[in-house]
Amino acid sequence: ISVTDLVEESYKRIEEVDEEVQAFITLNKEAAKKQAAELDQERGNDDAKLFGLPIGVKDNIVTKGLRTTAGSQILSNLDDPLYDATVVNKLNDAKSVTIGKLNMDEFAMGSSNENSSYAAARNPWNTDYVPGGSSGGSAAAVAAGEVPYSLGSDTGGSIRQPAAYCGVVGLKPTYGRVSRFGLIAFASSLDQIGPITRSVEDNAFLLETIAGHDKMDSTSANVEVPKYTESLTGDVKGMKIGVPKEYLSEGVSEEVKEAVKAALKEYEKMGATWEEVSLPHSKYALSTYYLISSSEASANLARFDGVRYGKRAEDAKNMLDMFMRSRAEGFGDEVKRRIMLGTFALSSGYYDAYYKKAQQVRTLIKNDFEKVFEDYDVIIGPTTPTPAFKVGDKVDDPMTMYANDILTIPVNLAGVPGISIPCGFSGDGLPIGLQIIGKHFDEGTVYRAAHAFE
Ligand code: GLN
Repeated sequence: ISVTDLVEESYKRIEEVDEEVQAFITLNKEAAKKQAAELDQERGNDDAKLFGLPIGVKDNIVTKGLRTTAGSQILSNLDDPLYDATVVNKLNDAKSVTIGKLNMDEFAMGSSNENSSYAAARNPWNTDYVPGGSSGGSAAAVAAGEVPYSLGSDTGGSIRQPAAYCGVVGLKPTYGRVSRFGLIAFASSLDQIGPITRSVEDNAFLLETIAGHDKMDSTSANVEVPKYTESLTGDVKGMKIGVPKEYLSEGVSEEVKEAVKAALKEYEKMGATWEEVSLPHSKYALSTYYLISSSEASANLARFDGVRYGKRAEDAKNMLDMFMRSRAEGFGDEVKRRIMLGTFALSSGYYDAYYKKAQQVRTLIKNDFEKVFEDYDVIIGPTTPTPAFKVGDKVDDPMTMYANDILTIPVNLAGVPGISIPCGFSGDGLPIGLQIIGKHFDEGTVYRAAHAFE
């Protein structure tokens, strides 16, 4: 098969299903086809890692010359970004073909894709249901067969939760494993870019390509990138699994619990052992996360002022009016809610009571994980308390929407890597995700455990 055929196949599938799935915000059709034709010329004498493979990129990852909106109206006119994110540079070096930019909740704030200011992406398994979020488009596009690989970003679960809902594989790497240069920032101390794929092997392969130290991102770690594909041995004999009791408690539905228990049985059969453990500060994770992430978001989003880039309101009376109107018109409700919450939490007089306190609790949460990892190789539990919910079910109730991420958020606060892999279906035929969490920079063991179960 030629690269041209492969790329055409991708666009053909998009034409067939994307009117309903709405996974893409922007397509890169012309440029991709041109690139495919060029790659076909070089074929045979190039061993680039992702040679000719179609890939979709979440729309908060900057792509030179290709519209990048972060799901927001305020960037709807950012048609011609001036540079590529580091991960995109790496994809280009590996000679993959960027098919288009994937739908997402505005500025990655959301769990259902319903906060996208373009269209709400749908779950390909049943389009009455949400695909999850914020990387809903990234997971849906892979699940619907529009692209084999995609990139998402995960601040509090935004790769793993949509991967779980759409029945695909999604990994949030260790904080610092992948460069954030060119990722439009939501909460800088939590954001990580990661791969979404159909198999664990593809996922490991893609992480190998995008990971590594980057001088453009001072928070990227100078730690060697192992060959993750080599850790896929199929052997988990003697592996010690911790199962947090907090992850199988009330809020988690029976079918999800059953699926996770069945998975643990499989691990036992393969020679691994598991025991119940505790992450006692998990109950504070949600409030901690919303304080920290909203505070950082309020600072990060201050740059969208209608002056340097993005949309500028018309007919402003003066400069202040221009700032205010541009932001009032350009941001959606959820984004405004977070900016207000964050600005409040950072304001003098409240800083100590909220932001500082949240940072202290964050350390306790991180310590919980480190303690468990003294005795166990991985932590396993569900990715989400329930399978996907119906479109419209939670839009009016931010608190229940937030509660959806209760099992993924602690992982971001601790900075450790976590993957979601499919582990069964609900009675309604919707996928259920199994979450495997590892030690800092130990994605290899996470992949090994995931691959053995797959
Ligand atoms: N759903 C969470 C939020 O709305 C997580 C989002 C994310 O990981 N980007 O903040």
